Amino acid sequence: MAKMVYRFSKDFVEGDKDMKNLLGGKGANLAEMCRIGLAVPPGFTFTTESCVHYFRNGNTWAPGLEAEMDSAVEWLEKVNGKKLGDTANPLLVSVRSGARASMPGMMDTILNLGLNDTVVETLAAATGNRRFAMDSYRRFIKMFGDVVLGIKGKKGEHDPFEAALESVKHRTGKKLDTELDAAELEEVVKLEKAVVLERTGKPFPTDPREQLKLAIDAVFDSWMNARAIEYRRIYRIPEDWGTAVNVQTMVFGNMGNDCGTGVAFTRDAATGENVFYGEFLMNAQGEDVVAGIRTPLKIAEMAKVMPHAYDELVEVRTKLENHYHDMQDLEFTIEKGKLFILQCRSGKRTGLAAVNIAIDMLEEGMIDEETAITRIEAGQVMFLLRPIFNTKAVKAAADEGRQVAKGLPAGPGAATGRVAFFSDEIQAQVAAWGDKAILVRIETSPEDIKGMETAEGILTQRGGMTSHAALVARQRGKVCVAGCSEIEVDYKTRQMKIGSHIVKEGDWISIDGSTGIVYLGKIETAPSEVIQVLLDKTLDPKDAPNYRKFARLMEIADKYTRMSVRTNADNPLDSVRAIAFGAKGIGLCRTEHMFFEGDRITSMRKMIMADNEADRRKALAELLPYQREDFYGIFKAMNGYPVTIRLLDPPLHEFLPGDDKNQKDFSEKTGISIAAIKARNEDLHELNPMLGHRGCRLGNTYPEITEMQARAIFEAACDAAKEGTPVNPEVMVPLVGHVNELKMQADIIRTTADKVFVEKGVKVDYLVGTMIEVPRACVTSAQIAEVAEFFSFGTNDLTQMGFGMSRDDYAKFMPIYIEKGILKHDPFATLDDGIFELLKLGVNGGRQTRPQLKCGICGEHGGDPDSVELCHSAGLNYVSCSPFRVPVARVAAAQANIAEKKGLKMAQ
Ligand code: ADP
Ligand code: MG
Ligand code: MG
Repeated sequence: MAKMVYRFSKDFVEGDKDMKNLLGGKGANLAEMCRIGLAVPPGFTFTTESCVHYFRNGNTWAPGLEAEMDSAVEWLEKVNGKKLGDTANPLLVSVRSGARASMPGMMDTILNLGLNDTVVETLAAATGNRRFAMDSYRRFIKMFGDVVLGIKGKKGEHDPFEAALESVKHRTGKKLDTELDAAELEEVVKLEKAVVLERTGKPFPTDPREQLKLAIDAVFDSWMNARAIEYRRIYRIPEDWGTAVNVQTMVFGNMGNDCGTGVAFTRDAATGENVFYGEFLMNAQGEDVVAGIRTPLKIAEMAKVMPHAYDELVEVRTKLENHYHDMQDLEFTIEKGKLFILQCRSGKRTGLAAVNIAIDMLEEGMIDEETAITRIEAGQVMFLLRPIFNTKAVKAAADEGRQVAKGLPAGPGAATGRVAFFSDEIQAQVAAWGDKAILVRIETSPEDIKGMETAEGILTQRGGMTSHAALVARQRGKVCVAGCSEIEVDYKTRQMKIGSHIVKEGDWISIDGSTGIVYLGKIETAPSEVIQVLLDKTLDPKDAPNYRKFARLMEIADKYTRMSVRTNADNPLDSVRAIAFGAKGIGLCRTEHMFFEGDRITSMRKMIMADNEADRRKALAELLPYQREDFYGIFKAMNGYPVTIRLLDPPLHEFLPGDDKNQKDFSEKTGISIAAIKARNEDLHELNPMLGHRGCRLGNTYPEITEMQARAIFEAACDAAKEGTPVNPEVMVPLVGHVNELKMQADIIRTTADKVFVEKGVKVDYLVGTMIEVPRACVTSAQIAEVAEFFSFGTNDLTQMGFGMSRDDYAKFMPIYIEKGILKHDPFATLDDGIFELLKLGVNGGRQTRPQLKCGICGEHGGDPDSVELCHSAGLNYVSCSPFRVPVARVAAAQANIAEKKGLKMAQ
């Protein structure tokens, strides 16, 4: 096997930042930071390949791995002038996981490895700090006991190591860990060792080399723990990546009050503002900061207590940004006034921050336009459209004394919901209440991931801006107020106290993740800046800095896009909105809803009840003016952008009144007997309506319907054209599987167009095309393109029919399929690769016949970033999605094009 252990130190580095796949994100960046001269404690990294080998071979190490480890340990001992387990000068290390993609808090870390009863005494003597030595030891036994030996609290029981600590605190009446002295910590150590003996039947392992091997195994194993699996599922991280393992020389933030540990962001991760943001704790180690056990201090405070280390840290901030050209999230420890950097990675951020940082860095000349676009997760753009609290409603709430607490603004946005306290219950509560919920916790841990997903917003009593809750909220675009110490959560009574108020489970609260303020009761929300500027027109862009950055981003996106983005819209209002969001046309205008409005449905039902063509035509004639009016409005709104109008699609029985009351109403209105209505209903009823008498099958059995719709389209187009509005209609025939199905419909459409042009004395350009949504159409697309002038892929039906799974029923088994890994994702949300093959077959076949054939997609997938990328690669001309996803699709389309160009450049 290839080399499996890579070393890093200030004088010797084997890895670099581009080796994430092999060394994991943490390992690659530790190496890179050594290269740029930052103070990183030396260490070595086990490759992800060694982890993959471990899992593929029944959890065993690859041949030669142990020898590589030994030689790396020997090297590390030399670099440090210390030895593992030495009684004169002992080396302690941390063993840290680190996958390719960062998975905050999902896997396990062990600190202070190498301690045992003898070594701890040496450490105490060597440092002259027995308290510190014992503190390190009790932490080590706890982490090792938990991660390696698997000793956890049983359900409903406190973590046994935590209990050991608590019992000593209780006996001495001390509250904080930091208050315990050496003897008391030694007592904790004794209790912890007793826990190990009792739970495992064996004493705590004393040999440091054995400790190291076991710890590495445990980090490998943590890749398969339930939390990590759940995390990978949500973030779609493949299981076969494996994790790297970093073994690193310990530095100590728990040696006293000239020590500490912290985390920082080079810019504000919530808003993107160019300010240094961070938190730290004095006399603390490892996860103390993020775990939210003590509430940390703001980084600015560090200037006062440790000015020298603070200055160094500010320098590191600049150095990292100038090197990585991106906002970085870093972890540091100060040992006796000296600063060490333990980790850096590109920082997780909200959608708002992502856009602001990208545009700021572009303007600062730090990155170019293409990079700015790729810095944003396309889906995050949705975040800028999310509501904020209505200003008046907030003021009213404040006046009524409902503004009751303030925490940290950890995830911007506004959320109102009912209080839920437990992550494993919130889903059921939301279902039972039928209302949104706010998850309120003392602090969150990775076990809460699922509950946080369900919650509308998250409120925590403890923890800072970099706490677990804050991090996850920002990543998932959740509203979050963290570290709100004015609330007092009591899980037992299922309520919280805020000052003199008692808030019970199920009560309403509102939280503002941009200000950190907590309100009692519901508060009305208002649209975001972007919505206020673009749709409501109630805000001037000059007063909307976030809007301006959004607009700049969109402008750049368009510059780098090959595909255009259209929208799915059925009415003038949606069309106007979509244009405001930057849509360049309508990719799918469904006509069926037009039949339901007002009195139209009666005419439609009369049409269905008709026994002969003449009666049918009479009923259709009643519908014509309504349809014409709708189309006219859309053509006016789209002002020359293409509008793809789909002819009637759903099965006819959906239009007939189903229940007695409606049947009676209809009968009274039209004089048709109830018996006749029931009989027709029966007659039209289909066992498989999804595969039934719908789509072009309707138009081919009742050509009058197509004729009426075509007439409405062309009359509207001519009317608009006469007024000088450019029009660009594309008439789309749905559900074609055989070219002859299309031929017959196309003839009717074209004949009708000619008639209307003569009647109106004006001609407009138009296309006749088809929706490709039946697998047979993909396979015979070359023939279909002889008639069709454009293809629009209806990937909802194509997925349904290609997979043979009904959209109406698939929810029964899809979650299980995904859990079991049978499918990686929901094929109705993200285009499945097999269905994508069908799509490509369709495009390529069609373009054999008609090289310039216009191709687009109009299924739900059109707004999904991953699917947009696929569409680009298949050479589609456009994607079409719902109005609110248009900005997402624009960014995704630009990203796909940039990625392709970069790929081409690399191939040259
Ligand atoms: P995670 O992946 O969950 O962030 P890390 O491996 O970064 O876990 O470890 C968590 C914390 O442990 C770090 O932020 C750091 O504070 C501490 N830590 C890890 N290695 C060392 C070390 N060699 N010396 C001191 N502290 C360390
Ligand atoms: Mg961890
Ligand atoms: Mg870390």
